[in-house]
Amino acid sequence: MSQAGTVSVAEKLERIRGRIRVAGRRAGRSDEVTVVAATKLVPAERITEAYRAGLRHFGENRVQELEAKRRQLSLPEATWHLIGHLQTNKAQRAAALFNRVDSLDSLRLAEKLAAAAAGLGRRLPVLVEVHLGEEPGKHGVEPDALVELAEKVAALEALALEGLMALPPYLEPPERVRPYFRRLRELAEALAHCGLPGVEMRELSMGMSHDFEIAIEEGATQVRLGTALFGPRPAKK
Ligand SMILES: *Cc1c(COP(=O)(O)O)cnc(C)c1O
Repeated sequence: MSQAGTVSVAEKLERIRGRIRVAGRRAGRSDEVTVVAATKLVPAERITEAYRAGLRHFGENRVQELEAKRRQLSLPEATWHLIGHLQTNKAQRAAALFNRVDSLDSLRLAEKLAAAAAGLGRRLPVLVEVHLGEEPGKHGVEPDALVELAEKVAALEALALEGLMALPPYLEPPERVRPYFRRLRELAEALAHCGLPGVEMRELSMGMSHDFEIAIEEGATQVRLGTALFGPRPAKK
């Protein structure tokens, strides 16, 4: 199946699933972990290859990029996650294009998405992205503003708040990321204990290629993998 000298997505996926099982077992977990293939800058043919290998969840960062790719793709059972920052003026297009928004980071965006989803007669599942760490310029709601945002998002009928997402800093070795993953899980637990109507905390989207095993040990239900599945992305200019 693989081209000379390269490992196919199917082979990589099989190895990743093995590592996911081992990490889950280490943490005494028996539930499923969803692999969300992070496909930014990955061409349509390779996305199709991933679909043929059995992947059904795909994450894209930008509305325009997925609009272009979807014209070349026919993946009837795919679930598309928006995992990048969304400007409010693209909420309408995003609600039509994506099955889920995992990077909800403001009330204003939530309101725009809810209006768009209502107009489409849909209920859109969302995760709130939390900003963990001190890095400036990153997106996500600050932890101390999370409960207030969650309460307001939950009141929007056209959105279904299902959990939290985070993009912690890149640290080596990956063990150093553990406290961030733990923090996100604790925030989700605290939020669940608030008992806000309409707030379900069943998804934790955390962990990327270099740290997904740690994230799984800390309770991730979804890991977002790009490099581990598709190899290095072309360098940004
Ligand atoms: C690109 C990206 C990923 C995947 O990153 P890798 O390190 O290549 O696995 C995950 N989450 C988000 C939000 C991304 O933009």
